[in-house]
Amino acid sequence: MRLRAPLAFAALFVLSLTHTSSAQQPDRDSSSAARVSALLGVLADDSMEGRDTGSRGGAAAARFIAAELERAGLRPAGDSGWFQRVPLARVTVTLQNGQTRRSMRLQPDVATRDTFPAADRVTAVNVVGLLPGSDPTLNNDVIVIDAHYDHIGIAATPINGDSIFNGADDDASGTVAVMEVARMLAGSRPRRTVIFLLSTGEERGLLGTRWFIDHPVVPFERIVANLEIEMIGRPDSLAGGAGKAWLTGYDRSTMGQLLRDNGIPLVSDPRPDQHFFERSDNIAFARRGVPAHTISSYNLHADYHRVTDEVRLVDAAHMAAVINATARAAQLLANGPVPTWLPGGQPVAPAPRP
Ligand SMILES: [Zn+2]
Repeated sequence: MRLRAPLAFAALFVLSLTHTSSAQQPDRDSSSAARVSALLGVLADDSMEGRDTGSRGGAAAARFIAAELERAGLRPAGDSGWFQRVPLARVTVTLQNGQTRRSMRLQPDVATRDTFPAADRVTAVNVVGLLPGSDPTLNNDVIVIDAHYDHIGIAATPINGDSIFNGADDDASGTVAVMEVARMLAGSRPRRTVIFLLSTGEERGLLGTRWFIDHPVVPFERIVANLEIEMIGRPDSLAGGAGKAWLTGYDRSTMGQLLRDNGIPLVSDPRPDQHFFERSDNIAFARRGVPAHTISSYNLHADYHRVTDEVRLVDAAHMAAVINATARAAQLLANGPVPTWLPGGQPVAPAPRP
């Protein structure tokens, strides 16, 4: 989940990196608190260094995700195996008040990025897996299930001895959900094609998703719906508590009602004043016309974008329940009616970026 104001770039320093992949006996039909805890424990471990965009920890997280998608039986759908390279450069931008700050900007291609000084070049990757649809006609339609795996890295100054922004809730929780939904769907042969996208650079301005949309791995017009999972690590009383979640932009398209009519425990976003529909990767799809929403149970906890967004504060049983519901939602999108915008629901595209 993005801040509403831009974030200063955190200083990085070196930590040793040791992590091992998870090894559980998976039940193909459902997730569990034990699986959630194991996967989350890897992604939000201190060794992942806060999964900053283009960082060593971010790359380690991407490799772990790719291995899990492979284990699930998906096809790699990036431009280099499971990875879609996202060329970025660090630039200094001048704010409207005349102050300057460092930022990351998408570059048109790798060659352009390489005109920047080596220290300012950033190579980040999206992780992309594809499950081909089983229906000879409907498999032309593509559903995108996504979450961002990047987070905000390492704090410049430790807080109570902790400097790692673990991002267990934001958005290791959604990343685990996408990996688990991929594993469950792969066993069920859905009729439409499903792309599982784990994006980078969300916290820096939806960079990975914007790159994906401009360089889609299938023709963009084939993408008929997008469901994102963002911050489902803790229950939200306004969603009905444990095992329940809300859907951003619920009243904008038929997706919310479609899912609820089929028993998916979702309510409309209880805090529209927070503008969550606009604060995550789904908005980039929505502005390009694709009905796109985010499942969340973010309860406005105080650990948002703090070093205390830790695994031990995640309710794994709640998360597993929301993941199982999300898998049913994904099944419905892959096999049932295509959602459409309701009158006035589609957001207006912003002016093109220079
Ligand atoms: Zn965030």
